[in-house]
Amino acid sequence: MDSLTYPFTDLPAAGQRFKVADGVYWLRFPLPFALDHINLWLLEDGDGWTLVDTGLGVRQSQTIWQTLLAEQLDGKPLARVVVTHYHPDHLGMAGWLQQRSQAIVVTSRGEWELASHICASTDEQAITGFRTFLGSHGLAGDVLDQVAGKGNGFRRVVRPMPQDPQFIGAGDSLTINGQCWTVHIGRGHSPEHLCLYRDSDHLLISGDQVLPTISSNLMVRPSAPEADPVTAFVDSLTAIRDALPEDTLVLPAHGLPFRGMATRINALVAHHAQQLDVVLAECQRQSRCAHDILPVMFDRKLDVQQLMFAMGESIAHLNCLVEQGKVQREDLNGVWHFAA
Ligand SMILES: [Zn+2]
Repeated sequence: MDSLTYPFTDLPAAGQRFKVADGVYWLRFPLPFALDHINLWLLEDGDGWTLVDTGLGVRQSQTIWQTLLAEQLDGKPLARVVVTHYHPDHLGMAGWLQQRSQAIVVTSRGEWELASHICASTDEQAITGFRTFLGSHGLAGDVLDQVAGKGNGFRRVVRPMPQDPQFIGAGDSLTINGQCWTVHIGRGHSPEHLCLYRDSDHLLISGDQVLPTISSNLMVRPSAPEADPVTAFVDSLTAIRDALPEDTLVLPAHGLPFRGMATRINALVAHHAQQLDVVLAECQRQSRCAHDILPVMFDRKLDVQQLMFAMGESIAHLNCLVEQGKVQREDLNGVWHFAA
């Protein structure tokens, strides 16, 4: 198979469920930024429901959830909420749903630890952390103020954090409606991203780890400034590709359900290899900081939110080249520069 196929092109309306497989329903929530929407997956589970991902913690999600809980669950309780990873469009409504349904929240230890760590920081600590980190990678002046000056935005769209999660990880499985869903772990986009695979009919809930049309953001965070998420992302993606059959129906968190997973993963791997080549070529010409690299990696104008993500990608690819021994980094007047 050399191109992707999309078996469902009708979108579920906000507040309604749409069946995509036996016992599996698609919910689609709007997002107030460029990503536009997130897909959540509602799974029949005996006398109740298991939900995968929850929506951004904002009033609009709450309104849609009130409709769904009242009209779309056939009078059965939400028994379990699986959070694939810590990002607020996935985690944001988990605590609110838990308070209303007493659902058990399930996630991985790595995602929980990072979410808890981010939530614990004050606005001031978040600003200082990002200012210092992005400043050390060449962002300065007004732009740095705008990107780093928002404080702890995470806490404002995760309301509240859920309580007492159960942890699952690599090699575990969940029994949902009597059927086995195996856990596959993605890395790089987030620390320990849960993907769930139903062996009986080759269904993968992929979260943000495998997306059909956009590449998942790879972010280096101030708390782990020398991390190499590019290698982690590529290695975990290829492991998923090699473990699962090509006819797998992928249910992604953004975009349409699709088949052609190996083709898509190969394209994502090639994309990062190409970005590494471009960044390396730039560092061979002259010593560059992460901010200098942006125009060679991104051929479009970046708004403030995109600039934050773009700096993450730039630092990620530079860190990967350091890890591979292809560039060295040196401190020039408080800014990290990278030269081949
Ligand atoms: Zn994400």
